[in-house]
Amino acid sequence: MPSQRPIDLVIVGAGLAGGLIVLALRARRPELRVVLVEEAEAAGGNHFWSCFPGDVAAEDRWLIEPLIVHSWGGHEVRFPDHARTFEAGYASLTGERLDAVLRQAVPEDDLIFGQGVGLLSPTSATLADGTVLSAGGVIDARGPGDMRALDLGYQKFVGQEWRCNAPHGLSRPIIMDATVDQSEGYRFVYVLPLSATALFIEDTYYASGPELDVPELRARIAAYARTQGWEGAAEGHAETGVLPVCMDGDVDALWRAEAPGVAKVGLRGGFFHALTGYSLPDAVRIAIAVAKMDDLSGTALREAIQRLARAHWRGQAYYRMLSTLLFRAAEPAERWRVLARFYRLDPALIGRFYAGQSTFTDKVRILTGKPPVPIGRAILALGATR
Ligand SMILES: Cc1cc2nc3c(=O)[nH]c(=O)nc-3n(C[C@H](O)[C@H](O)[C@H](O)COP(=O)(O)OP(=O)(O)OC[C@H]3O[C@@H](n4cnc5c(N)ncnc54)[C@H](O)[C@@H]3O)c2cc1C
Repeated sequence: MPSQRPIDLVIVGAGLAGGLIVLALRARRPELRVVLVEEAEAAGGNHFWSCFPGDVAAEDRWLIEPLIVHSWGGHEVRFPDHARTFEAGYASLTGERLDAVLRQAVPEDDLIFGQGVGLLSPTSATLADGTVLSAGGVIDARGPGDMRALDLGYQKFVGQEWRCNAPHGLSRPIIMDATVDQSEGYRFVYVLPLSATALFIEDTYYASGPELDVPELRARIAAYARTQGWEGAAEGHAETGVLPVCMDGDVDALWRAEAPGVAKVGLRGGFFHALTGYSLPDAVRIAIAVAKMDDLSGTALREAIQRLARAHWRGQAYYRMLSTLLFRAAEPAERWRVLARFYRLDPALIGRFYAGQSTFTDKVRILTGKPPVPIGRAILALGATR
């Protein structure tokens, strides 16, 4: 018989942000009844989520530790003018593992999968079958929604697991191989060695529009593997992504766009890195913050998390400016120079950049020296944003 206990919190969307909040609450506030609703049949979607060690504070690492499926002791980048190896490790979490960990941590009655949620209020969620879940509070974690309040470009990719006929010889991830064709804008290949003969290869590029030509990118992956001498074929995990790269916008308008009055997390709440579109570091921070909140009522949650969203937005101003420079100040074929130059800087600065925690000195350092984009065009591009 389904549990009759009152529900303290409903989390809508069992992706990265929603899943982590539930795990944090199960670990730190087991007395609460938290119900997780997801429209798919499983949590986590079809994802590899990767991060650097510095992306997550040491004291918060326990939250993602059980989700890590692959980890490496270093990584490298490659550009037309230089290559570099870094000692800092890298780790990948998977949606499949998130699903398994959630099923272990949460009572079966409190996982409602295969049910989309339409109507949301600060204290209720209406399921597709008409059931209304009433709760002390509700959090909307449904992933990217109506983002018209933001001025966006996109980081787009197709990734495929690639089975090599012989050992590939790669021992650490290549986070960016930008030695590929750059004529249409910044493009790179991302490679994770999963085993001696299996790789995960992702062809990624930055572009103004969200359209994704999947067959074209698959063909590029096969061509890249061939040029590296990795004879084999695509097999197993495959994913696609169209991630927002933010140049400007209005975070309060983003919050009003859908389910106004309801607390929002993840991409829906604007919690992502403006230049990379990645959200794992923010998802961990917000999950830990929610687990520490005294008042989890719908209105209190909305106020507290919206405050965090505004603070995050202010903290991202610098990365929005870099996104603008990348998209609007540099000629498409020259954009790689912005990243190539960045990757010559101090590894600690690079780590803080990805974690979204650049210091004032870092910010100055990234922009000083020989400019990677024409100065006049940079000023025009920045002036054009609100
Ligand atoms: C393929 C891919 C790879 C990525 N890799 C990385 C990475 O390596 N590192 C990183 O930091 N970021 C990565 N990102 C970017 C970003 O971190 C992810 O998109 C992340 O999953 C966003 O988290 P989220 O919780 O906001 O949304 P999601 O993880 O997408 O979760 C939203 C969930 O809500 C569910 N949902 C939607 N509508 C409803 C509804 N009406 N009712 C119920 N449920 C609903 C969805 O099915 C989904 O499960 C990646 C993105 C993609 C697409």
